[in-house]
Amino acid sequence: MSARLLEGKPIAVKIKDEIRKEVSEVTSKLSKKPTIAGVQIGDNPAADVYFKSQIKCASELDIEYQHHKLSAEIPQNELFAFIDSLNNNTRVNALFVQMPLPAHIDSRLLYRHISPLKDAEGMHPENLGKLFFGKARVIPCTPRSIMELLKATGINLYGKEAVIVGHSEIVGKPLSLLLLEQFATTTVCHIATGERGLTAEHLKHAEVVVVAVGRANLIKGEWIKEGAIVVDVGINRVNDKLVGDVEFEEAAKRAAWITPVPGGVGPLTVAMLMRNVVEAAKLQLC
Ligand code: NAP
Repeated sequence: MSARLLEGKPIAVKIKDEIRKEVSEVTSKLSKKPTIAGVQIGDNPAADVYFKSQIKCASELDIEYQHHKLSAEIPQNELFAFIDSLNNNTRVNALFVQMPLPAHIDSRLLYRHISPLKDAEGMHPENLGKLFFGKARVIPCTPRSIMELLKATGINLYGKEAVIVGHSEIVGKPLSLLLLEQFATTTVCHIATGERGLTAEHLKHAEVVVVAVGRANLIKGEWIKEGAIVVDVGINRVNDKLVGDVEFEEAAKRAAWITPVPGGVGPLTVAMLMRNVVEAAKLQLC
């Protein structure tokens, strides 16, 4: 392996120190701790783990965490009424709803239902619109984490060839806007790129590679350009082991920087969620 490991934990430690200071300022202005309501719908062991890590992180940062676990059968109108009650609850500064949702609930409608001022994930159309215009109020947590990892390499993204693989609404699409804002020449590959067998062709020129698909070893190590920065967002369980979307060993021989899975993007996303809680609380002070 010649690549340097781009680890999320040390960056998360630094970010949490910054958040702690902001929490203390916001707490004195609000006369209460900033508070997040996390909504879990249905039982899902992976979601349980994610909520546990959110609750732990919130407690470390002196942020109040309300965990609401609802039945997977909750009708959409009842869920939206519950979200309304949180929107109107002055104790609650930010809302997070765990995805994926049961099939009978429309995630786009749900994102619209969360107050844009309490939107911990930055997925309300008003917040995405602000991101589009380069005036982000709140940035979706995973793309924000990816940008922090890229920043930690010290490499200026201006004019760099960046390729994102995966065009999801929560990762690939908002990330493309953040990279464009840094003047990276940004290409987004998706399922149709893969179907035409063109992903490797795009990666030939990629100085920055971000993969967020959720398919183990989708990206072959030999496709990575010498000296590239590789951020592997994917999380896949293979033989009881967590792996990313990139063939790590081979890619690490060619890349200059590469994120481990686990230990890359993951440790940062919860910290970014907490940063968004504090920013939402500040918005409500205005
Ligand atoms: P998602 O909503 O399922 O999106 C996956 C995207 O990949 C979709 O846009 C899909 O396109 C595209 N895709 C499917 N097959 C492809 C192919 N062969 N080539 C290129 N693109 C392809 O998933 P997500 O929420 O973005 O998450 C992606 C992965 O990142 C998952 O493994 C997830 O667990 C992980 N993740 C990790 C973190 C973290 O904190 N570490 C945070 C978020 C997500 P279509 O929709 O058109 O099929």
